[in-house]
Amino acid sequence: MLELRDVHAGYGPTTILHGVSLTVQAGEVVTIVGGNGAGKTTTLRAIAGVVSTTAGQILFEGEDISTLSPHDIVDLGITMIPEGRQLFPDMTVRENLLMGAYRPAARAARADTLEEVLTLFPRVRERIDQRASHLSGGEQQMVAIARGMMARPKLLMFDEPSLGLAPKIVSQVFQVIEQIEASGATVLIVEQNVFHTLKAANRGYVLENGEIVLSDDAEALLTNDHIRQAYLGI
Ligand code: ATP
Repeated sequence: MLELRDVHAGYGPTTILHGVSLTVQAGEVVTIVGGNGAGKTTTLRAIAGVVSTTAGQILFEGEDISTLSPHDIVDLGITMIPEGRQLFPDMTVRENLLMGAYRPAARAARADTLEEVLTLFPRVRERIDQRASHLSGGEQQMVAIARGMMARPKLLMFDEPSLGLAPKIVSQVFQVIEQIEASGATVLIVEQNVFHTLKAANRGYVLENGEIVLSDDAEALLTNDHIRQAYLGI
């Protein structure tokens, strides 16, 4: 479904990604793990068209999307759930969720999608008429995920969904991601929480200094010596 071929990208004169290649097949959950500043967020931004690619190709369903606008990329069915939630604080949960369904294809089905999403997130249903700013960090993350799903994306990308959340809430967030996975969605997650994300994923890539240094089945990465020493502290 998604293929990055030797992608170089960065900010102005600074190159952050030095030739990233990876694939995500339909129905897979793939993760990119790596430390602070490795380029994980930049990789998602390049796919979303927010950061321009200076070399290489990004193919989505066979089409080169590396020169498309972020808007066109959303229209093709790629949605990113940003780091730090980025909800509209003064809007209600319902209003935030409906903002997620702005693609024409999603708009037509938004009542049905809202019901599906609220079934997946009972806690969000309880909070539906509250202002987003009144929710806890964990609840806000659930709303951010639910809003991403309102777009009915083909590919859902998560940027550090566990960031800033208490350990108990992190487990809940990953349970939800596993439920999304069970529904057959295609997911790309970038995370510093290597243990949880590898548990949830089918395959993983390790990104260091803007380069993929390792890739394998998630299960194999969990027992890989480099991963255990550098990221799991074992
Ligand atoms: P983090 O967990 O810190 O978000 P990351 O792996 O997602 O790590 P990126 O956010 O992709 O890393 O950042 C990679 C590098 O790009 C960092 O050195 C960062 O300082 C730099 N960078 C990120 N955003 C910008 C920007 N808007 N302008 C210039 N440099 C940036």
